[in-house]
Parts: sequence; structure tokens; C-alpha cells
Amino acid sequence: MEYLITAVLFVFGLVFGSFFNVVGLRVPQGESIVQPPSHCKSCNTRLRPLDLIPVLSYLLNRGACRYCRTKVSLLYPVMEGICGISFALVYLTYGWSAEMFMGLLFVSLLVIVSVADLAYRLIPDKVTLPALALFLILRLLVHPTQPYWMHLIAMAVGFGLFFLLTVLSRGGVGGGDIKLFAVVGLFLGLPLLALSIFLSALLGTLFGIILMLFRGTGRKTQVPFGPFIAAGSLLAYLKGDAIIGWYVDVFF
Ligand SMILES: [Zn+2]
Repeated sequence: MEYLITAVLFVFGLVFGSFFNVVGLRVPQGESIVQPPSHCKSCNTRLRPLDLIPVLSYLLNRGACRYCRTKVSLLYPVMEGICGISFALVYLTYGWSAEMFMGLLFVSLLVIVSVADLAYRLIPDKVTLPALALFLILRLLVHPTQPYWMHLIAMAVGFGLFFLLTVLSRGGVGGGDIKLFAVVGLFLGLPLLALSIFLSALLGTLFGIILMLFRGTGRKTQVPFGPFIAAGSLLAYLKGDAIIGWYVDVFF
């Protein structure tokens, strides 16, 4: 049974991931997420159901539009795949529970902001603020994992810390990152927020080093931080207790 539910959630994640691509690409542009229907950006041909199968359509058409052969961004299948795997992992971590549904919502937010940040270098308020309102209700009133004031403190810490960083770095950290960390703090609570900040910074730094090695130093590339916040937060959410336990075992 567990295999079946995992597989179903994986497929659901692929399909939702495909929708979150649309949300992340259209919302920052102020476009509707339902109109116009999916079409090729290059030849404007309206895509048929067969062209919209997550990941598979991309592979079958070898990464190009079936009608005009223009290349399709790798972002689409990659984010669909990540969303599918993340949905399955949330179920494998939390089982069929209220927390699982919370986790699926959290993954949804992280995928949307990653798409938007990768595409436009911004995390839209139109996504983070409704998410903040939603999780204020769900985390404080419906399904808290800690006393409600700890969720609130974590929200304030996430916001305050990155607000300070923004001021100190004179805009090196974006306003969207601040609000995203407020939501992450609210959702995860205190110890896991600290871990998610650490993991996000670690992943971002590692990526920066790899980029420097491949492209050479001296070249200033603006790397969006959103996907690293998303990856660090998801890792903290899914494996945080194990990571903290391992750390305590090794160092204390
Ligand atoms: Zn086309």
C-alpha cells in the first residue's frame, strides 16, 4: 500500500509541478494563470494534452517544441521532476497525516518561488504574502508542531535576520528572500529555521564555488538565492531531526 501511495503522490507531484511552472512564470508578469491556455512561446501553437505530459513530453520531443522545433527550457521537466520526488518524500517522511498535507503545501510554495526566482531573479509578493496568511492560519490554529508563540518567534527571526542582512549588504539579499524566510520560519519553527538558514547558505556557497571553478574567478554572476532557500528548507523539513541528531552525536 505504501508503494502505491508513494507512486500516486509522485505522479500528483509531477502534474502539480507542471502547474507550478505556469504559476511561477506567469504571476511575476501579472498574467492570468488560466488564460491563455498553454502554448509554445515561439510559434504560439496551442499545446495538446499529449504535449503537456510532465517530463515525458519533454523527453519524447527531445526538448523541443513538436511544431516548430524551438528548444524548450530544461526548467520545465526539472521542476516537475523535483516536485514529484518531493511530494513522494513528504509522504515517506510524515505518512498519511495532517502534517503530510502541510508538507505538500510547503513544497508547492518552494517550487513556485524557485521557478520565479530562476526565471526572473525575484520572489513575488503575490506568492509569499498569501502563503504567509495561509500558514498563519494553518500553523497557528489548525496544525502547529510547537507552541504557537515559537512559530511566531521563528517567523520574526527569519524576517528580522534577513532584513538586517539586506540593510548590511545594501541590497545583496533581495526583499523576496526576507519574506520567504519569514514564511519558512513560521512553518518550520525555531530549531529547524536555524538549520534551514545554515543549509541554504551552505548549498549556495558550494554552488558558488563550483561555478567559480568552471567559469573562472572574477566574473560576477548573480545567482538567485531562492532555489537554495527552497532546497535548504526542504532538507531541514524532511531530514532536520536526523541531521541535528547526527550533529549532536558527532560533536558532543
Ligand atoms: Zn513552437
